[in-house]
Amino acid sequence: MGQDGDDAQGGGLERRGRRARRVRLLLIAVAAFAREAIGLRALGWGLGGRVIVRCGQGHLFATIWIPAASVKSLRFGMRRFQRCPVGRHWTIVTPVRVSELSDDDRRAAAANRDIALP
Ligand SMILES: [Zn+2]
Repeated sequence: MGQDGDDAQGGGLERRGRRARRVRLLLIAVAAFAREAIGLRALGWGLGGRVIVRCGQGHLFATIWIPAASVKSLRFGMRRFQRCPVGRHWTIVTPVRVSELSDDDRRAAAANRDIALP
């Protein structure tokens, strides 16, 4: 019957559409990961992990930063909106360039760790 033929064709198109959507989502995820990984590398943090960030009010603290993975912050590329454990406020934080940190900065930031979640 003609009706059955149409249905089968429609199903095939829909399967292709779903596959294209999955590929597109994967590409977006890979692009987001790559952008952050490249940004972290440029700042001297390698592929991430525990990095030292500066909040909007200038506080330094260590936080877990893994490209494209986060449960405790809203992300905007190399900026994140999260809680600052030093000033106890919500703020935009950005990773600090490793070469800009003095030993004192590192010690102070390491003492101000936030929770161990990305
Ligand atoms: Zn702060």
